[in-house]
Amino acid sequence: MRVTLNAYAKINLFLDVLRRREDGYHDIRSIMQAISLHDTLTVECSEGEGIVLSSDAEGLPTDEKNLAYRAAARFLEATGIKAAVSIHIEKRIPVSAGLAGGSTDAAAVLVALNGMHGEPLSADALLSLGKTLGADVPFCIKGGLCQVSGIGEGLSALPDLPPIPMVVCKRGEGISTPWAYRRLDELYGDFTGKYDGGTAEAGVYDALLRAIAEGDRDALCRCLYNVFESAVLPVHAEAAALRRRLTELGADVTLLSGSGPSVFGVFRTLDDARRASAVLNEEEGREVAFAVLPTKRTEMEKISN
Ligand code: ATP
Repeated sequence: MRVTLNAYAKINLFLDVLRRREDGYHDIRSIMQAISLHDTLTVECSEGEGIVLSSDAEGLPTDEKNLAYRAAARFLEATGIKAAVSIHIEKRIPVSAGLAGGSTDAAAVLVALNGMHGEPLSADALLSLGKTLGADVPFCIKGGLCQVSGIGEGLSALPDLPPIPMVVCKRGEGISTPWAYRRLDELYGDFTGKYDGGTAEAGVYDALLRAIAEGDRDALCRCLYNVFESAVLPVHAEAAALRRRLTELGADVTLLSGSGPSVFGVFRTLDDARRASAVLNEEEGREVAFAVLPTKRTEMEKISN
């Protein structure tokens, strides 16, 4: 049994931290959008036992340090299924970039294995299993556009956006998410309850929800927000410069994605986005920028075979 499927990256149209919990995790308020930039995974099951993972990406772990490997192990453990699982990852999503690259690979493995075995886990059980692997995994299983709360497990689907062209780009050193949260704690005060209510201007989140409901691109552009910008941009010169460069290249608005350092810009047309990404790639001498569109919720299932 073999399945090939695309695992989509995500960006945050809105990301705020509401509170630092006593267990050290942070409750967030976010709106996440799956985008067309993706890894491609081939998952194969045969008789026997053991998990083997390979990838075309240099430096990506191929053992249990890889989240996709851990997803397979967790799935077999949870269902009691015995199988030899082989996973190959064609990696395109930049690593440690705030684009949920590891989480989406893990989500794809869970969806693939569950589908291949006749769905032993319900949709809710799969989301719960995903949460044990990482806060972004439940969203990556669901895809599309969602309101996200809690540490990432509270998901509520939103209507699909119109095809808004964007450029996603990562330059410079990657950022570890725990490091970015520590920076945030330094900035806003390291004690429980500090951020209650969030850091964004009042009304912005609700205005963004209205813009989404109305499919109003220009209103949406005015409401993008990411609390990590204040923590990351002052110490990551490339990300700050990249935001300016995207604006020079025609983006109407730019924002850091997740805990960074990748940045995205919203463009008028896909051709404009493609031109801007080509310039950025030329400047860098390698592929660091991608012209992307939002992807719809059903896309992960549609591509599997
Ligand atoms: P998030 O946005 O969810 O915080 P990220 O995009 O910032 O995630 P990842 O690309 O998921 O970060 O990588 C974070 C770390 O996870 C890296 O150190 C990387 O080596 C490790 N990792 C494990 N498995 C994977 C995978 N399948 N793809 C990418 N990174 C992985």
